[in-house]
Amino acid sequence: MNAAPEAQLRLLDLQEIDTALDRLAHRRRTLPELAEIERHEARLAELRDLVVGAETELADADREQRKVENDVDVVTTRMARDQQRLDTGAVSHAKELESLRHELDSLAKRQGDLEEVVLEHMERREEIETRLRGLRTEQESVATSLDAAVAARDESFAGIDADAAGRTTDRAKLAGELPEDLLALYEKIRASAGGQGAAPLHRGQCMGCRLPLPPTEMSRFRTAPADEVLRCEECRRILVRTPESGL
Ligand SMILES: [Zn+2]
Repeated sequence: MNAAPEAQLRLLDLQEIDTALDRLAHRRRTLPELAEIERHEARLAELRDLVVGAETELADADREQRKVENDVDVVTTRMARDQQRLDTGAVSHAKELESLRHELDSLAKRQGDLEEVVLEHMERREEIETRLRGLRTEQESVATSLDAAVAARDESFAGIDADAAGRTTDRAKLAGELPEDLLALYEKIRASAGGQGAAPLHRGQCMGCRLPLPPTEMSRFRTAPADEVLRCEECRRILVRTPESGL
């Protein structure tokens, strides 16, 4: 392929812009804020599940407590009735009296047991409420951190995008001025060679693969016409001659 030496030199300018654009795209993909946002979002999802779990536990505990309190009421009512029967002398038969006293004793024991259960439930409830408060506090603080990370990401995006937009405009202008076949070759190599399609030949070294050119290749390049598009034997990139090429 042939191309004017000036066009070949401008290919290096294009390469510089493309490399900068690739770096910007890489920076955009790997911003530390992105990992931070992901971490905060994952924790928020965990916290949402934990809150739902705790709220369910709390509802269950409340239902159980109401049930036990209801049992306490039944026992208390029964005891009051029995006590009234005793106090008013409604029961006079000795055997009946004994059975009534016996019932009152077991009701008192049952009442004591139930009250203990009520206390246990209250403690359980407090424990869940404390946990829930902690979870909600953490939710707020993680949400605040997430907002800050999103704002920082957007600011970084805006900076990168503005930079990229400027370079993209420059690139389009430059690419429009290059011969189509040279540009197509450059693009093809760039796609398969890690983003670098053209490299300067610098003091006998290909700046694409960083390998020194064999002396035979150097002597061939020395006599090659200026408009011949040279390629590195090793990496196949377009080699652009400059005053520092060592030819
Ligand atoms: Zn090379």
